[in-house]
Amino acid sequence: MMCQKIMDRKIFHSRVKSEDVTPAEKWLGYLLGPAGALLLNAVLATYLNVYYTDVLKLTTVWGGAFLVVFPIISKIIDAITNVIMGYIIDRTRTAQGKARPWLLLSAPLLTVTGILLFTVPSASETVQVIWVMVSYNLFYSFAYTIFTANMYRLGWDERNGGNISCLLDEGEVREYLDLNGVLRTIPLGFNAAPLAGRLFLVTGTGKYFKNMDADPENNLGVVRITSDGQAADLLWGYRDGGRFTSEFPAHLMSHIARLAVDPENRVVMHTHPTHTLAMNYIHELDEKKFTHTLWEMCTECIVVFPEGVGVLPWMLCGTTSIGEATAAKMKDFRLVVWAMHGIYGAGKTMDETFGLIETVEKAAQIYMLTAHLPRRNTIQDDQLRELAEFFGVNYRKDFLL
Ligand SMILES: [Zn+2]
Repeated sequence: MMCQKIMDRKIFHSRVKSEDVTPAEKWLGYLLGPAGALLLNAVLATYLNVYYTDVLKLTTVWGGAFLVVFPIISKIIDAITNVIMGYIIDRTRTAQGKARPWLLLSAPLLTVTGILLFTVPSASETVQVIWVMVSYNLFYSFAYTIFTANMYRLGWDERNGGNISCLLDEGEVREYLDLNGVLRTIPLGFNAAPLAGRLFLVTGTGKYFKNMDADPENNLGVVRITSDGQAADLLWGYRDGGRFTSEFPAHLMSHIARLAVDPENRVVMHTHPTHTLAMNYIHELDEKKFTHTLWEMCTECIVVFPEGVGVLPWMLCGTTSIGEATAAKMKDFRLVVWAMHGIYGAGKTMDETFGLIETVEKAAQIYMLTAHLPRRNTIQDDQLRELAEFFGVNYRKDFLL
């Protein structure tokens, strides 16, 4: 309550009020704002380990075990505080929004905890160990968490949501990659024998789409399905020791299903489009009715996805069963909605696949904007038929009344 009152003061009014973002706001918000935190992070990434090993000589503490156990415990604490901060932010209500107060608070905290990291007193080993533990966790689990958690909650990025896999031609890859240089072999957890020897470019597990561009070698991988179909040989990427998305089995099963009906299919894409997701909560999850509503929302829809949209009920993701269910739908549809989760799309190119999902999302957005209002007009079934026949697409006739 007191915090709320303080935050309502004029000095904290940092919201952009002008219609277009001014250059000053751009420089302050996007350049100077994150610059300090990122600089500090760069310094830590470079010097903190050197400081811990060469200056404090922590390598000898607990017979060397301290430097092994300490980062693991710290990551666990970090994970827990991330969840707690998200919970707190979601329940914060001020005139400045839910995230901004914490963003402001994180600035001095980052500075203070950042200094504490490098000012370990020259006391007994026990005091030093406690200081390192506390300061390190204060910095990463508290101050830094507030900062990054806020970036997500301001809507700039949605964590590691989404994944893409793209079938590659050996000819395309040969000039860039050594096709015999296997870095690692990663088990698949199911039999992908129909794809043995095929190459895929696939996003990594836990990786953020926003980072792909800046560091593709870490966030992406090129893999080749082994001859027995049980594993994938890593030829390039996942530099930090990572692996492909946990949805890769679902992707591969979808590739197998799509290739059987369209030998030119190359891309499988999974994402969490907001309005499509919102529609899941208020619309019947029957694929005939769901498709019909989408077709009614934009004239282009029946032409773009004439076969309609498959819909799966809510299922546990990352499993073989959701992969099998998706692949079964992919025999009839290039688009499969995962209820209350997101959507799968398949196509010949990235553009086609993205365009399919984009068109569903547009229709869902119009639905969400109008669903609560009296409907005075709509595209009639006869008009949908006329459209599909004019453009010569093979539409699901049984999805019309
Ligand atoms: Zn997902």
